[in-house]
Amino acid sequence: MKVLKFGGSSVAKPERIQSIVQILKKYQARNDQFTVVFSAFGGVTDSLIDMANKAEAADIHYMVLFEQFKTRHLEATQALLSASRFNKIQKEIIQNCDDLNGVLRGIFLIREVSPRTMDYVMSFGERMSALIIAHTLDENGIPAEFLDARKVVKTDRNFGAAKVDFEATDAFIAKYYKAHPKVQVVTGFIGSAKGNGKDTDFGLTTTLGRGGSDYTAAIIAAGLNAEVIEIWTDVDGVLTADPRKVKKAFTIPTMTYAEAMEMSHFGAKVIYPPTLVPALKKNIPLYIKNTFNSDFIGTFISTERNANAGAVQGISSIGNITLLTLSGSGLFGTPGVAGRLFSALASGNVNVILITQGSSESSISFAVQPADALKARRTVEKAFEFELKNGSVDAVKTEADLAVVAIVGENMRYQPGIAGTMFQSLGKNGVNCVAIAQGSSELNISVVIPRADEAKALSALHEGFFLSDTQTLHIFMIGVGLIGSTLLKQIEKQAKFLKENRSLEIKVVGLSNSRQMLFDEQGIDLNNWKSTLYESVTAEPRSSLIGNFVEKMSKLNLPNSIFIDATANADVASEYDKILSGSISISTPNKIANSIAFSNYQKLKDIARKRGVKFLYETNVGAGLPVISTLNDLINSGDQILKIEGVLSGSLSFIFNNFKAGQKFSDIVKEAKTLGFTEPDPRVDLNGFDVRRKLVILARESGLPLEEADVVIENILPKACQEAKTVEDFFVALEKEDKYFESLLETGKCLRMIAKIENNKATIGLQKVDDKNPFAQLNGSDNMIVFTTERYKERPLVVRGPGAGAEVTAAGIFAEIITIGNFLS
Ligand code: ADP
Ligand code: ASP
Ligand code: MG
Repeated sequence: MKVLKFGGSSVAKPERIQSIVQILKKYQARNDQFTVVFSAFGGVTDSLIDMANKAEAADIHYMVLFEQFKTRHLEATQALLSASRFNKIQKEIIQNCDDLNGVLRGIFLIREVSPRTMDYVMSFGERMSALIIAHTLDENGIPAEFLDARKVVKTDRNFGAAKVDFEATDAFIAKYYKAHPKVQVVTGFIGSAKGNGKDTDFGLTTTLGRGGSDYTAAIIAAGLNAEVIEIWTDVDGVLTADPRKVKKAFTIPTMTYAEAMEMSHFGAKVIYPPTLVPALKKNIPLYIKNTFNSDFIGTFISTERNANAGAVQGISSIGNITLLTLSGSGLFGTPGVAGRLFSALASGNVNVILITQGSSESSISFAVQPADALKARRTVEKAFEFELKNGSVDAVKTEADLAVVAIVGENMRYQPGIAGTMFQSLGKNGVNCVAIAQGSSELNISVVIPRADEAKALSALHEGFFLSDTQTLHIFMIGVGLIGSTLLKQIEKQAKFLKENRSLEIKVVGLSNSRQMLFDEQGIDLNNWKSTLYESVTAEPRSSLIGNFVEKMSKLNLPNSIFIDATANADVASEYDKILSGSISISTPNKIANSIAFSNYQKLKDIARKRGVKFLYETNVGAGLPVISTLNDLINSGDQILKIEGVLSGSLSFIFNNFKAGQKFSDIVKEAKTLGFTEPDPRVDLNGFDVRRKLVILARESGLPLEEADVVIENILPKACQEAKTVEDFFVALEKEDKYFESLLETGKCLRMIAKIENNKATIGLQKVDDKNPFAQLNGSDNMIVFTTERYKERPLVVRGPGAGAEVTAAGIFAEIITIGNFLS
């Protein structure tokens, strides 16, 4: 015998019921013996509760809902059955509706709906659906009969979540099925309890708790000692996480009862937790299958542990809980405190979701549903009234708006480091763990976190345990000038490779220029980001755009978020502290944050370290060249930096590399400007301010707390050039100085603007170097940095290559995105 259960979404519409008929025909064709359990049509139970509550509140709109209920069921009956059969059962349907209407009217008149009445009201959903479907099967060649589960499922009078009396129930089921050979079509969710007094009279309708039709299937299966239970729902089985919260969730092929129990207990709605108890007791395996994808095998649940499965099988969460903490000096070393606490909660009928106690024994925390929080607090304070009065116990602390996330898997028991991975994944995404609990069975580790972080935590954990086949990075970028747009092009071009070879997906989800901003959680289409961005209407005034961008980014609260500042803007740089504090890593070519006050530089590094996020800026010096990383590697491995010398400006490099005897210095500067190698006013380059920023950053990276004002810059421009009011005037003045610059050239030597740090001093000046000097060999806009260290004393370590340009700079940022991705994974 097989017991099949179909959930509400599987029977929401007549077409869906037709497809269930097709599924069942296959069982019939195989000569399988089966019985089927049905939920109410999708949404009906919610609507019945709504009707009763409205009637209680004297809101006559309950009548509208009632009419909808009646019409929906009559229409479904008409759609599914022949006219003759419809006429035959119409009376019964209408009778049910009249009964329901009568109860609702009673509730309306006396303004009260007790749990007992509510159970009766709710029972109409399953009673109608199973009745209609039984006739549908029968008419489609599957000889079937309606079975009102109240006839066989016997419970106590705990209305709303009644406990099953298995002894009685098993006997009723066995007897009933023996006498009824046709396919039984059973109402899920409901049972019956003894009425007042009489032992034989099970006249009261009860329900088994929301989602309880799954449980009905297991109860029937246990009573029949069935071979298998099949729970047919609207997803492909038990998935690695709630598919509504983690898009990449996928089917878990096999699980143990214990794993399924933990998953469902911690929020996986796909199975109602009590279902597993009778199944386990009678060792009846379960399949969880999808009515919308009926050929798919789904999830198989049995006693068998899958030794080949990963340590973590699935992740689940309870989205809203309240944590209560009992603490005080009186708890330490006092036996029986936990016992008293939890007996008090049990007698107060408070369901405890999770418990943790520190080894210091000075506090015990426990999680409850928010609706139970007040009752729980009062119950505990009453139980510890005496200790509260004498001060050995403090008032119970209540923390609301929390969630529990749990990782589940039997194989965790056999593998160390799982908790470590869990906390790393959460920590790197800035999710604060409020409390932690691990069952001694090591089947589950649960963490209490802020409710706002639930979705992020689930996704981060899903990736952290390789449950997702790809890692997704979420990029937020301000600045879509030359560097920014080149980076977008590179990401777009590389996307396929990264996905296929590195299982990495880079989603640009936020983009902003100085006027507009654009967000798309699904990822902005990089083929036409320009038009989408420029068309996006921004209500923000320009002044608040950056702040709003950052705020929106943190509100989205996506896992693996990375911020990229592709501007040279001080306002963007001033947001870094906020961004890093929000546990978002940064990659930036913008030199401002690192070269203004040393205290700012240090603050940002401190925040990044404390928050455990990355703050990367390799492209601050020498574009994509590995300058800062080389310097860091030298220092971290214990080398001593003796001297750093460098040609650090692409524009100055171009000018001096091309300035040779017989050429006019002013012509070269003009050419550099025309080619776009200099700032609009070339004096910005020639006066060395940009080089100074880079030198300050190198000094700070090597441990020298230097300020810009500490750098001595040799002034290479004569006074007239400095003082010229406009760029044109500057060139006129410069032409007059061509002789002077020519006089600086000596045969066999060339000029280089060299930045240097030595003996804790930083200088920038024009030097005459001979042909053999490595600085003389530079071409084009090359940069070169020479590190003289304890280890590299005789022959210094040289980093050389193109030190400017959008392609290489963007590539440098791209490399940092990958670095951050590796760090996050
Ligand atoms: P039914 O009406 O068939 O009883 P439910 O709505 O009770 O269906 O349960 C199925 C739903 O459970 C799915 O649609 C899914 O949204 C949700 N769900 C939550 N967690 C999980 C999970 N880990 N695996 C599968 N489904 C889950
Ligand atoms: N119809 C009931 C509910 O919605 C039982 C079930 O669907 O399992 O809770
Ligand atoms: Mg369900």
